[in-house]
Amino acid sequence: STVTRFAPSPTGYLHVGGARTALYSWLYAKKTGGKFILRIEDTDLERSTQASVDAIMDGMNWLELDWDEGPFYQTKRFDLYKEVVAQLLAEGKAYKCFCTPEEVDAMREAQMAAGEKPKYNGMWRERTDHPADKPFCIRFKNPLDGVVVIDDMIKGRIEVANAELDDLVIARSDGTPTYNLTVVVDDWKMGVTHVIRGDDHVNNTPRQMNILAALGATLPKYAHVPMILGDDGKRLSKRHGAVGVMQYRDNGFLPEALLNYLVRLGWSHGDQEIFSRDELVELFDLSACNRAPSAFNTEKLLWLNQHYIRTSPVAHVAKHLQWHVEDQKLEISNGPSLEQLIAVQGERVKTLKEMIEVSRYFYEDFSAFEENAAKKHLRPVAAEPLKAVQAHLAALTEWTAEAVHAAINGAAESLGLGMGKVGMPLRVAVTGGGNSPSLDVTLALIGKDRCLARIDLALA
Ligand code: GLU
Repeated sequence: STVTRFAPSPTGYLHVGGARTALYSWLYAKKTGGKFILRIEDTDLERSTQASVDAIMDGMNWLELDWDEGPFYQTKRFDLYKEVVAQLLAEGKAYKCFCTPEEVDAMREAQMAAGEKPKYNGMWRERTDHPADKPFCIRFKNPLDGVVVIDDMIKGRIEVANAELDDLVIARSDGTPTYNLTVVVDDWKMGVTHVIRGDDHVNNTPRQMNILAALGATLPKYAHVPMILGDDGKRLSKRHGAVGVMQYRDNGFLPEALLNYLVRLGWSHGDQEIFSRDELVELFDLSACNRAPSAFNTEKLLWLNQHYIRTSPVAHVAKHLQWHVEDQKLEISNGPSLEQLIAVQGERVKTLKEMIEVSRYFYEDFSAFEENAAKKHLRPVAAEPLKAVQAHLAALTEWTAEAVHAAINGAAESLGLGMGKVGMPLRVAVTGGGNSPSLDVTLALIGKDRCLARIDLALA
């Protein structure tokens, strides 16, 4: 059955591009009833860190992209890679190359000077006069002629002539295996049937296919996912804003919104925009992925996030909102519960972070009024309406939205004023600004004592 894998190099956080590749691999495995493997490609010891491994797994856990096997670490598999290199050498499918790096450089320069494409010329491929005490690397004997055909599930047919490919180094002079070798050995030994990865690897694919063929392995199918661009058409990077999956958590996105966004970035199913996870498993199809790169669109992601905030079960939103409560150090026990907060603000915000930012007045007093709102509705102090509404509110024996509503009405009527002439000063007085959910509900949630005290402050 199907085996897919996500094989990040742990040199940073989980980038949204990587997350999308992981998602496609995960979906393909789920859809076909196969398994999804996580493999950490940590052979670059200088750039790989445990912090990055943790960050990648955090991102995957947050998106609920669970792996069936792993994480496997390539650094723990060196014995296996060495065995395979030795096997290729013994079978005459690889050879020792005694060129120094300087000699290789000189070869390339001479080729470029002659207007040729630089390429290792295979000078040690057939030689047997091996020096006894010189360092050597090991190169794969790439076939000299013929064509490698990638029947890419996204990009279609890609042909590369073997004459274009030089003999790849598979083990360095210190004996360590190189990137292309480790990928090949793992895809082979892990029984990977579908290699779904970024198209920045498409140039490696024919080389990897040749090595796999030399090993007698069954070739996996390949699907190269086009990259994600920023709004300027350049490859998405930090310059464009948030690129790490967990930055989206920090910025107030729900994981299902990011997931839904990422799957649609490069794949479509008619004009459907909203997909549940189950629908994705059912409908996702590699052959319906775009061949061209896609541009990241933050507005659309915000729209999806708003959709999921509005429509997800409250308990689910509350679970994710809790993180922001802690992050922004909001004392939730001083005011409405998370569920109450979501009920009044859920329709009004685009992110969970924003939900907390615009709700502080429910939990804590503020030291200043929002300048524009105060200028417009409070200053010079709207003393008459504020005093009247304060008296009506103070007289209430029960503090519910309905009672508050009646009190505001009563105050307005007693002054012969419209609701707005009372309501706006009141809103600024109790919330500090001109934006809040409906006033009766807002006051009900803030509480009677707090509301009366805040009106006092506004009158002072
Ligand atoms: N480790 C590679 C990367 O992070 C991915 C290799 C692969 O998927 O084959 O770019």
